[in-house]
Amino acid sequence: MAHRVTLIPGDGIGPEVATATRLVLDAADVGIEWIERDAGSTALERHGDLLPEATLEAIRESRVAIKGPITTPVGTGFRSINVALRQGLDLFAAVRPARALPGVPIRHESVDLVVIRENTEDLYQGIEYERGSAHAAALREELAALGGFHVREDAGITVKPISVNGTARIVRFAFEYARGNRRRKVTVGHKANVMRYSDGIFLNTAARQAEDFPDVPWEDIQIDHLSSRLAKDPGTFDVLLLPNLYGDIVSDLCAGLVGGLGLIPGANIGWEYAVFEPVHGSAPDIAGQAKANPIAMILSGAMLLRHLGEPGAAENVESAVDEVLRQGLVRTPDLGGGSSTMQVAEAVAAGVSAWEHGPS
Ligand code: NAD
Repeated sequence: MAHRVTLIPGDGIGPEVATATRLVLDAADVGIEWIERDAGSTALERHGDLLPEATLEAIRESRVAIKGPITTPVGTGFRSINVALRQGLDLFAAVRPARALPGVPIRHESVDLVVIRENTEDLYQGIEYERGSAHAAALREELAALGGFHVREDAGITVKPISVNGTARIVRFAFEYARGNRRRKVTVGHKANVMRYSDGIFLNTAARQAEDFPDVPWEDIQIDHLSSRLAKDPGTFDVLLLPNLYGDIVSDLCAGLVGGLGLIPGANIGWEYAVFEPVHGSAPDIAGQAKANPIAMILSGAMLLRHLGEPGAAENVESAVDEVLRQGLVRTPDLGGGSSTMQVAEAVAAGVSAWEHGPS
């Protein structure tokens, strides 16, 4: 086999869209050896651990993984397994392309955006103090002593760290992505006028690093203004470079612009490892009903193929998805159709096989 890939089916609709994706990627016939591992609620049931060491070990060994969404049960000590996975493997860059797909009606003339989100810092780093705890009280006192800040006694506190080094690497990643993928420009979103010492670092570091990429046009925009312009006129943007929290929110907004969460793929990339996954969650409301749209995970699989150095196979998968959507005969209910998850996967896989092997 040419490529070893760890597959984490995940929870809720995860196993359904993972099986669908595996069928399509096997049809691409690039020699993938699958190493299947658990994470999330399924892992807790089977192994008594939400993120078993065997799963992390498999990713470290294969270096690439594709995962379905996972559910983090409340009260298990983990804030989010996804956050733990991204931080544990230092997957500092999230890449989430949102493009209008054929046959999927959208409100705008065209949408072709890529959100690049910093994945390890910001309000999602996990530095939090519970309301009423001794630590929250100590921090309140410290803040009063340090800067005369008054934080209400009944406040919970979440800290927002953004560093120069953490920002520099995501900025360079985004500019290199823009250059390598022939994108028009990079837009840096922030709120540096209010959060001068966190978003301020993000903006100033972006400006400094951008000097090394004179061929890549860029601009900055406040996140609130960005949101209203995105909703009204998304065609004016191209690559959106954002800190962690804004990136999370804006990528769901972009999903809405192109027809919903069932269509948006994603990648989490670090220096050593890469984990591909759809943007959507485990969708407990439709789990087990064969209604989940597998396209977001299938397109994450296309991103995985490109990462493995198989650009031809990646294009075949994307073209097969486009063709199935263009024909409009096989669609899951979120796109107004009546087909099942596997019927969509089979239609896409048939298209991929036809392109891979030519007419039989
Ligand atoms: P969600 O994305 O699971 O669902 C939001 C809505 O979109 C639901 O109505 C759902 O039915 C629909 N939807 C999502 N994916 C779909 C698909 N492929 N096809 C058709 N419809 C789809 O978000 P949520 O309900 O906020 O979260 C549910 C769980 O997922 C939570 O436990 C959350 O923590 C987890 N989650 C995991 C990830 C991840 O693993 N990367 C990401 C987001 C949320």
